[in-house]
Amino acid sequence: MSVEDFRRYGKEMIDWIADYHEKVDRYPVLSQVKPGEIEASLPDAAPVQGEDFEAILRDVDEKILPGVTHWQSPHFHAYFPANTSGPAILGDLLSAGLGVQGMLWSTSPACTEVETRVLDWLADLLGLPDRYRSTASGGGVIQDTASSAILCALLAARERDSGLRTNREGCGGSQVAYCSTQTHSSLEKAMGIAGLGRANLRQIEVDEHFALDAGKLAEQIRADKAAGLRPIFACATLGTTSSNALDPIADIGRICAAEGLWFHVDAAMSGTAVICPEYHYLHDGIEYTDSYSFNPHKWMFTNFDCSCFWVADRAALINALSILPEYLLNEATASGAVFDYRDWQVPLGRRFRALKLWFVLRYYGVEGLQYHIRRHIELTRQLAEWIEADEQFEIVAPAPFNLVCFRHRGSDELNKRILDELNDSGDLFLTHTKLNDLFVLRLCIGQSRTELEHVERAWRLITETARWLRTDGR
Ligand code: PLP
Repeated sequence: MSVEDFRRYGKEMIDWIADYHEKVDRYPVLSQVKPGEIEASLPDAAPVQGEDFEAILRDVDEKILPGVTHWQSPHFHAYFPANTSGPAILGDLLSAGLGVQGMLWSTSPACTEVETRVLDWLADLLGLPDRYRSTASGGGVIQDTASSAILCALLAARERDSGLRTNREGCGGSQVAYCSTQTHSSLEKAMGIAGLGRANLRQIEVDEHFALDAGKLAEQIRADKAAGLRPIFACATLGTTSSNALDPIADIGRICAAEGLWFHVDAAMSGTAVICPEYHYLHDGIEYTDSYSFNPHKWMFTNFDCSCFWVADRAALINALSILPEYLLNEATASGAVFDYRDWQVPLGRRFRALKLWFVLRYYGVEGLQYHIRRHIELTRQLAEWIEADEQFEIVAPAPFNLVCFRHRGSDELNKRILDELNDSGDLFLTHTKLNDLFVLRLCIGQSRTELEHVERAWRLITETARWLRTDGR
């Protein structure tokens, strides 16, 4: 593509995206296609001759869009938000345009240094301990996902515990890790990938608010030690996936400090709330942690992928992940004066992901971000009040931020029917979970364009659907 054509089609593409965002609320939120439908609409083989850009764009409209679930719709309330914003999209576009590969400091110094600085800014905003700064013993890095962040934390813990032997010799099967029954499944997956074994993850019971029971954690650690095992790692979640439960960081931290465990906090979605000072208290006990992660790609207006991960002692992480073949040797690395982020992650290559985060932070400013986050929390509180006031429905877990877990007081079957009816209609997209063995509806608020009118509409559709299903005798 010539530079001139790129300029022309690039403008068209930006217009297309702007139009899409303007009318995204009009599409059925959950894609209505059947499995295989999109694939069947595409040719069996790649085109032999190049095609016009217009033809490609036409197929985006006709063939791709029907198979898109509209995560940016203000009617999207499923799973967790994956909100984006103009500055984030443009920052990502710039990253693609520059096309740099930031595996080493020397392969593009700005790619490393912007990332280091932006993560230091965020560590300040979140009130993380000084040790997490690049200027002290730690530092931050952008991972693709929270799953990668937890895997890296686990690998560093495993290596630290073994005196740097496990990378070379493998694990003996005696190292155990701890989380709650509500912890995200990425930790269980990481246990397998790290060679520690999924069976060596202890899922500790939770209290009535679905938060990890620290007393039970201490008991389990004692039992494991008595059985000759080596407790090495514990994870607390700030905002669990199912219900947004808040594990007691200080209580877990004290146990980890006394027992010498690596302590990781996974704040994937809800960490974003902590950039508002009124939520800093949620970090009580954060001084006990060894690593921390949260995903701007969930609720901080930064499009996927962007998961911020900090360690208090970067040497522990680098010891676990560094490998330096001849072809990557360079003066800057040898000088020890730079960060080579390839040593802070599983893959070698990395994009200039910090650009979109830098754009977002600069465009909104801290106050702008706080404004939008508080607005989402306020909308969630409003919805929780409506649910509480409706005798047909009940709230089944505390709703501290932007997620409400609730159910119709009828059967699980009825709740499932409500969910299916709403999602099939394309008017709304919600998901579910199970809490105390009950089928529970989850409604998450966090899309960049969700306003009060959308939440009012969502609640009206939910109550109308429930009423209709009941009078219909279904
Ligand atoms: N941790 C928590 C608490 C989550 O809610 C999620 C996603 O829902 C994850 C981790 C995994 O996120 P990612 O897709 O970034 O790996």
